[in-house]
Amino acid sequence: MGGLLYHEVIRRGLSRLIEVRRVVYSGRTRFQRVDIVDTEVFGRMLFLDGISQLSTLDEHIYHESLVHPALLTHPEPRRVLIIGGGDGGALEEVLKHRVVEEVVMVDIDEQLISLTRRYLWEVNRGAFDDPRVQLIFRDGREYIDECSENFDAVILDLTDPLGPSRRLYTLEAYRGIRDIIGDEGIMVTHAESPYIYQREFLTIHRTLSEVYRIVRPYGAWIPSLGPYWMFITASNVHDPKAISPGEIERRLRERGIETKYYTSELHGAIFTLPKNIMEALKRGDAGLSTDERPLERLL
Ligand code: SAM
Repeated sequence: MGGLLYHEVIRRGLSRLIEVRRVVYSGRTRFQRVDIVDTEVFGRMLFLDGISQLSTLDEHIYHESLVHPALLTHPEPRRVLIIGGGDGGALEEVLKHRVVEEVVMVDIDEQLISLTRRYLWEVNRGAFDDPRVQLIFRDGREYIDECSENFDAVILDLTDPLGPSRRLYTLEAYRGIRDIIGDEGIMVTHAESPYIYQREFLTIHRTLSEVYRIVRPYGAWIPSLGPYWMFITASNVHDPKAISPGEIERRLRERGIETKYYTSELHGAIFTLPKNIMEALKRGDAGLSTDERPLERLL
């Protein structure tokens, strides 16, 4: 290998080197270090504080997996709240649902969004300019704590539980979201890797299970993120495992959604977990993440 290499620490004891063709942007916003680079293998990549967030090769796998299972499980998601998601990829997927009338997106970092608008158009495709979108630049936890509005769905598209996003992975945050979605809504969060960050995945699952009746983990392999990756939906009424492929297909058509990765058949498959992940969940020995002792991903 010649040229420039991006060194990413996955966790203590595990790093990787990604060959970079060109540095598109490298600098600091008020909240985080931002690196946007063109790579040999994954296309354009975004790193925040040295941790990969997406690549143009496979961001559709991450964003379609995050958004569609939850929104399609809800029969009529008219108002959607996204916390985080500064690259605009989740927003673009949400806006594909014709039934969605309004999306509020709350991200802490206004400077980051100026950068992603400019350098990651391929990911957000102008979604920030859709008239259904209201952008708020604010700490997501503060927003949740003070929110008196109702939403049908809440999507947490956050950096890993380190730094400014930690207080969005706690019992108190999940209770605040339950108040926002009520008994009729659904939320979804990404939930780390069940193999590389198993403690973190199990803690998020356990903490959600204290608040919601139906908590459904599911996975996807996103090559540029490295390890197998989990997401979790949580709701008091909506169960993505109980909805038939036929109904998902009908909703996909009715809402006019085109995807590259997610399908109605895949919907059923992703909620079927490998035996060792099921066993880890059944052990039930995970900790609880609270404001007093928030989950912190190991470095
Ligand atoms: N795809 C991603 C991944 O793999 O982790 C997550 C993507 S997204 C770029 C993460 C976003 O969370 C960033 O835009 C960041 O500014 C935002 N964020 C972090 N902490 C936040 C907070 N406390 N409130 C609102 N947004 C926050």
